[in-house]
Amino acid sequence: MDLFEYQGKQYFSRYGIAVSPGDVADTVEEAIAVAERIGYPVVVKAQVKVGGRGKAGGVKLADNIDEVRLHAGNILGLDIKGHIVRRIWIERSSDISKEYYASFTLDRPNKTHLGMLSAQGGVEIEVVAEENPDAIAFLSIDPVRGLDIETSRRWVAEANLDEVAREQAAQILVKLYECYTQGDCDLAEINPLILTPDNKVHALDAKVTLDENASYRHPEWEEYRATETEDPREKMAKEKGLNYIGLDGDVGIIANGAGLAMSTLDVVNQVGGSAANFLDIGGGANADVMASALEVINSDPKVKVIFVNIFGGITRVDDVANGVLEALKRVKIDAPIVLRLDGTNAVEGRSILAPHLNSKLVMEPTMLDAARSAVAFTK
Ligand code: GDP
Ligand code: MN
Repeated sequence: MDLFEYQGKQYFSRYGIAVSPGDVADTVEEAIAVAERIGYPVVVKAQVKVGGRGKAGGVKLADNIDEVRLHAGNILGLDIKGHIVRRIWIERSSDISKEYYASFTLDRPNKTHLGMLSAQGGVEIEVVAEENPDAIAFLSIDPVRGLDIETSRRWVAEANLDEVAREQAAQILVKLYECYTQGDCDLAEINPLILTPDNKVHALDAKVTLDENASYRHPEWEEYRATETEDPREKMAKEKGLNYIGLDGDVGIIANGAGLAMSTLDVVNQVGGSAANFLDIGGGANADVMASALEVINSDPKVKVIFVNIFGGITRVDDVANGVLEALKRVKIDAPIVLRLDGTNAVEGRSILAPHLNSKLVMEPTMLDAARSAVAFTK
């Protein structure tokens, strides 16, 4: 789960990382009230979960009440790469002499954490990596040992941060690492981490991705979930306990097992179609699960056909077939359904469904045939 900048900054604050004082606003009037309270000059910042807000006109300096009114008015409602701005963050403006980059993320292949630090911040790190890869100091961190202050000091020197910034930056990095590990983040990024003319170092932006696998030990994350603008299909699927990911195509997919679900996406692609979703119903393909799956897919207006691809292992195909029939009694499905049922008790399962087949409930013998038949419905 990605956090908004203001939530990321609150997260940082908890671990003692300095950020500029500020507050959120949902209207121009609120923005003015915040600015009047914290004092000018302020920065008005669009809160959207996408980078490059500065370039898109979503970060503006304001020296007085009229400029706050102007910029807040312009930024609220602004479309930044498909994200509409509903909330802004107003903070005390900082004077900047240098912009650095700092982040921690997972290095899965090496089973370590990866720190990235650069004296060339403010721009996207991908751009630095491409144009000037030597400007990034990488630090591989053993998760058992962690990051100590001596290592951090060597790191800031290696990254060539300005002398006056080094000790403060080294301390911030240790705190950021604590935030990243103890706070169960997949990513904790500060870009830019700034040095001010009076030689103070602090975070001017915050990008935090929380590791959802750890949510059971963070009841406080509920407040972040409340502000999440989730895909409505994914929200519904989550409520029903399904492993669902929304995609852009028009073939709705239900499969049992993540591997088969992925193969189903592939085979649909192979025959010229495109999947509307990934949905793994797991081991229990009973009527409840099948009805929930069909309901979620049916709620997606892009779906022109539903491809149900089941390979019975421990799950028995006759149970699945009864589940499908029961589910169809409960949910009214608009799109045609193409079934491919194979594996344990496939013969029994198919014969249960045989009397119910028609032009909108089709069964095919193989996965490839079923994919072709499903894609034909979309043309
Ligand atoms: P992003 O474009 O979405 O990454 O948004 P940032 O929060 O990183 O802001 C983009 C840029 O705006 C920064 O790199 C700064 O150059 C500038 N900026 C942001 N806050 C301030 C500020 O308080 N004072 C000044 N002078 N510039 C700022
Ligand atoms: Mn930034």
